[in-house]
Amino acid sequence: MSLLYDEQIIILGSGVIGLTTALVLARRGLRVKVIARELPSDSTSQDWSSPWAGANWCPFGSDSRVTAWETEGFKRLSELIPSGLALSLPITRYAATEAGLHKHWYKNVVPDYRVLPSSDCPPGSVGASWTSLSVDAPNYLRWVEKQCVALGVTFKRRTVRHISEAAEKDGQIVVNATGLGSRTLGGVEDEAVEPIRGQIVIVRAPQVKTCVMDSSKSDIDPTRSTYIIPRPGPANEVICGGCYEVGSFERKVDPILSRQILEKCLAHFPALATKGQGVEGVDVIRHAVGFRPSRRGGPRLEAEEKRAGRKSYTVVHAYGIGPAGYQASWGMAKEVSDIIGQIIVRASKQPKRVVREEVAIMAKL
Ligand SMILES: Cc1cc2nc3c(=O)[nH]c(=O)nc-3n(C[C@H](O)[C@H](O)[C@H](O)COP(=O)(O)OP(=O)(O)OC[C@H]3O[C@@H](n4cnc5c(N)ncnc54)[C@H](O)[C@@H]3O)c2cc1C
Repeated sequence: MSLLYDEQIIILGSGVIGLTTALVLARRGLRVKVIARELPSDSTSQDWSSPWAGANWCPFGSDSRVTAWETEGFKRLSELIPSGLALSLPITRYAATEAGLHKHWYKNVVPDYRVLPSSDCPPGSVGASWTSLSVDAPNYLRWVEKQCVALGVTFKRRTVRHISEAAEKDGQIVVNATGLGSRTLGGVEDEAVEPIRGQIVIVRAPQVKTCVMDSSKSDIDPTRSTYIIPRPGPANEVICGGCYEVGSFERKVDPILSRQILEKCLAHFPALATKGQGVEGVDVIRHAVGFRPSRRGGPRLEAEEKRAGRKSYTVVHAYGIGPAGYQASWGMAKEVSDIIGQIIVRASKQPKRVVREEVAIMAKL
């Protein structure tokens, strides 16, 4: 199988994982084409996850692979603070037990990390605070897309039924970044992929400058938790959430849940109500439902050799990151590009002209 690095790398999926991967590969001198059903301009479609994210940086686990991705993510997203694309903001996190704070693995990654005394936490909970960040998801996606285009990445809107359709030539490398699409995409059909439904209320509250993540009551109802994420978006938007309903594809907004979300958020920040008292005093911009592309057993990031008739090709899978796509995107993209670099090195058992060019590419990786 010949893997010529001057072939286009195909990225299937234009969510935050596919887009960031395209950018990392393009920055390293590779030619990249993105194929996707939804593109960054489709910011109101519920058929993909990326436009619906908060999106802040707050770890959800302590798996070493994911923590490496999130560490890279914090570093790279922090670099965007001076431009205004990312917003630096204090965050307070509450959990029912220490386990919910994930052994504080990130205490040396983020600035100003502090374990909170119990007097500063809601009754029966533990907490920590640090300086985190957030991005306005649709705006951020458009920015990544723009960076890609400037480096020559091309975009094509297309729905692919089988992964082999994405490989246009023998020996091609395809990155599978289809999120929930990996559940039904032919040749992948990963039954471990499942949605985690998230319902949010987007409100206007310019005076709220602090992020809160409170999962301390999720032992009572594990599908629900409270979060408040100010973001650098239009009109000082603040995202109020939320829920983590595993396996639910319900697209409609549940008005009772919306009210509960606002009540819980108001308990943290009465100042969220800018027009009067209580829930009625909150300046609601809109309600929304999105689906986090999760995977039982954890995200999948690995290469797989495939064959379709006389065509052989390599798929590098990168999907199933669930609630952490933004914070993990740069780390996942880096790992995908490292894997692609190794594939290119292996292909260096090719004729001399090719080897020279591959070595030149590898020097950039
Ligand atoms: C309410 C909510 C809040 C969130 N908050 C945060 C947060 O604060 N921080 C954070 O880091 N993350 C957050 N997330 C999670 C984050 O949004 C996801 O992890 C991330 O968007 C996943 O990106 P992805 O690229 O894997 O998938 P997606 O964004 O779903 O993209 C999949 C891509 O594949 C394409 N595709 C799928 N199937 C096909 C096919 N057959 N043919 C062609 N194209 C196909 C789609 O069109 C799309 O372009 C939140 C999510 C939700 C819903």
